[in-house]
Amino acid sequence: SARQPTAGRSIPVVAARSLDALRTALAALGSRLTLRRGAADTVLSQLVHETGATDIVWNRLYDPDAVQRDKRIKTRCAEAGLSVRSFNAALLFEPWTIRTGQGSPYRVFTPFWRRCLQEGFDGATDGPSALPAPAAWPASEALDDWRLRCSIPDWAAGLRAAWQPGEAYARKRLDAFLADRLGSYHEDRDLPGATGTSRLSPHLHFGEIGPRQIAAALEGIPGRGRDAFLREVGWREFSHHLLFHHPEMASASLRSEFDRMPWRNDQGDLRRWQRGLTGYPLVDAGMRELWSTGWMHNRVRMVTASFLTKHLLLDWRLGEGWFWDTLVDADWANNSAGWQWVAGCGLDAAPFVRVFNPVTQSRRFDPSGQYLRGWLPELARLPKNLLHAPWEAPSAALNAAGVRLGTDYPRPMVDHGPARQRALDAFRQRVNVMARH
Ligand code: FAD
Repeated sequence: SARQPTAGRSIPVVAARSLDALRTALAALGSRLTLRRGAADTVLSQLVHETGATDIVWNRLYDPDAVQRDKRIKTRCAEAGLSVRSFNAALLFEPWTIRTGQGSPYRVFTPFWRRCLQEGFDGATDGPSALPAPAAWPASEALDDWRLRCSIPDWAAGLRAAWQPGEAYARKRLDAFLADRLGSYHEDRDLPGATGTSRLSPHLHFGEIGPRQIAAALEGIPGRGRDAFLREVGWREFSHHLLFHHPEMASASLRSEFDRMPWRNDQGDLRRWQRGLTGYPLVDAGMRELWSTGWMHNRVRMVTASFLTKHLLLDWRLGEGWFWDTLVDADWANNSAGWQWVAGCGLDAAPFVRVFNPVTQSRRFDPSGQYLRGWLPELARLPKNLLHAPWEAPSAALNAAGVRLGTDYPRPMVDHGPARQRALDAFRQRVNVMARH
């Protein structure tokens, strides 16, 4: 990936294992993975020189760095007289082909997706069963020398337990999801305590499975679960559409009035959020799940992101950066679109005034407290009616559950009502300033 993670956690760990899996898959086809470091166009020129290759082919990526890099490669290879071809494997549609009636890119998801469904999807073709070998293999660097493996053993162990990279495993995961979970996906997808979603996001990010393979596997299956699942793949498509047409999206608010929001710059608060010590159980469970496994349930991503940007009034880019560093599915398009959507500064955004209440969300989507208990063992003995807001529990109940608030588990770092009001005031002030100019 061209955009380097700032703290370098999940992406290198997962990439190393994904490359291992790719090496094994290529070997099964009679081929090899050649690893080289350096600027892609320079490395490719060297390889062409060493092997006498005449054709260069690749699948396209759509983030701004990749687009620039690939344009450079295309020009350089064409100048050298090589045949250069690129293909779409990462998306259902090229981002420039889906247009409104007026010919412009879409800004809002629902009409975008309606249009995609009208277009219909191309099927996916099977990969080759063998790849021809060159007369002599070019030298490859060793994966271990790239030092991609994690230097924090406990952290990497959590990732290893949760994720198995590789194309074969991605396909197995899709098949298992279709067989066991798809039928109830529309009901279970919002429940963080259920294994209701596909967990295909890292595989999609690393190109181990493509959306057209998913669409093809869904063909002919009726039902609300199927429609809801395809629609989520549609959100991924929409995020890439947005990023392609707004390459500045990872670093700039798409609604310009947010560029001067009076974000607080409180590193201590940011760290409490990152470590899952906010005192709001659903937020803390999510942040701990992220740190331990590299993944977080979508509903909880929304709640934790809302908490950072609204309750703490911290810049959405700080949260985007932390997710980028820690998610196994960290994806330039989905991550920045997700953050801008929650913060309310995206084009298709829920308005800033929509503030997720972490307690209400917790009661509604984890009513039994199963998810909370899994990630917050210090609260596990609280009964379910008290678990979502332990500060409201009578001291006798806290004592009985062995919880000392402020010692075993923090008190809420902000009160919901005043924090919500502070966010709304800051936003309205900003909008008023904009209106005066
Ligand atoms: P499923 O529910 O099984 O969905 C299937 C696929 O559809 C997913 O694998 C994913 O590719 C796509 N998808 C689902 N929901 C969304 C969505 N809301 N937006 C875009 N695509 C979606 N997703 C990432 O892949 N990488 C990220 O870095 C990322 N960051 C996010 C940050 C925030 C603040 C939010 C609110 C969402 C983010 N998402 C991100 C979207 C979503 O949370 C994950 O794609 C989803 O949780 C992955 O789990 P799954 O594969 O089980 O999803």
